[in-house]
Amino acid sequence: MSRLVFTKPFTQQEPISEQAIEQAVAVLRSGRLHRYNTLGDEAGQAADLESAYATYQEADYCLALTSGGTAMQIALRACGVKPGDAVVTNAFTLAPVPGAIAAVSARPVFVETTVNLTVDLDDLDAKLEASGAKVFMLSHMRGHIAPMERLCEIVAKHGAVLIEDCAHTMGARWNGIRSGNFGTAACFSTQTYKHMNSGEGGFLTSNDPDLMARATVMSGSYMLYNRHGAGPSEPHFERARLEMPNCSSRMDNLRAAILTPQIETLDTNIDRWNARYRKLDDGLSGAANATLTERPQHEHYVGSSFQFLVPEDTSDEDARALVARCAQRGVELKWFGDANPVGFTSRYDSWEYAEAQTLPYTIKVLQRIMDLRVPLSFSEDDCGLIAQIIREELAGI
Ligand SMILES: *Cc1c(COP(=O)(O)O)cnc(C)c1O
Repeated sequence: MSRLVFTKPFTQQEPISEQAIEQAVAVLRSGRLHRYNTLGDEAGQAADLESAYATYQEADYCLALTSGGTAMQIALRACGVKPGDAVVTNAFTLAPVPGAIAAVSARPVFVETTVNLTVDLDDLDAKLEASGAKVFMLSHMRGHIAPMERLCEIVAKHGAVLIEDCAHTMGARWNGIRSGNFGTAACFSTQTYKHMNSGEGGFLTSNDPDLMARATVMSGSYMLYNRHGAGPSEPHFERARLEMPNCSSRMDNLRAAILTPQIETLDTNIDRWNARYRKLDDGLSGAANATLTERPQHEHYVGSSFQFLVPEDTSDEDARALVARCAQRGVELKWFGDANPVGFTSRYDSWEYAEAQTLPYTIKVLQRIMDLRVPLSFSEDDCGLIAQIIREELAGI
């Protein structure tokens, strides 16, 4: 009897477009790779990228940076986080988030996770209260968006500031509002596995001109901060230019040249991701031993990854066996329950630099999460086949 097998790699991206390649080559030919290395009244690719992304994001200001992680560090510091301060964040997230908090010598305080993979709002309320934290770094982990109206009410009630980590929600909306426009600042990543690809890279967006002036000086602007594409006006820099340290993390013109054309295709790509996501969702609906996450009507998500939950009583051995059986048939699942960090995934209790915390509900949810990437190099039919393979293997748990 022949078994279906999937043969494409889960880590392969689509190529960079010919238009982006041409623009990158033009930058190389000019030799002007540094963002402030401009001639005459030329804006430069990094500045052009900032104005194009600010327009797409519907935000007043955008600062282009070297990574999503540096965007988070700079956002935290620009919001006034000091060494030793508590910063509340999701327990279900990836290592760069608590890493950014640790990088500014602050203390991550983790919030519990719901079965829909969003932050638990009652626990958020409790953790803000107990810790006295003045900043909540919300990671829209794997693109699952929590009910934002109630979330913002809770944050406001505690007089705290919201920073959104939109690494997985670039281009998404909640109730018509772009993810990233609910808080004081938002951070994005253009690392290869995210929604735009420049290898490494990131954005910080905000409508607060003073915060953005502080962030721009920190990014390493020297006294050339007036050469930005979507930055605040000169008077906002009066204090920031002397108060803020230079933490060199500028975007360069080469990567910017690759990114600007990708903004134009982002919405089309989101439709393509979601068509693939729906194939997986339909293919796994009603499958034995799988609970699919509910996606609320308000959520206009980006289905660039897919998650399902195995039953509560699944043992570690059974979870590992499911991953192994799918892998044998070419389907790469990541299990978030593994106590031993593997690949890009790790559990909150493996971040030993953070104070030890007990999150019984999150541990139960993580034990159940199976996760897969949905690269655009897969066709919709590929996603149907992947769902079928997982469905067959789930029956054997
Ligand atoms: C990728 C990622 C980031 C930031 O990534 P960089 O690699 O630093 O650009 C932040 N949060 C989450 C959840 C991520 O997956």
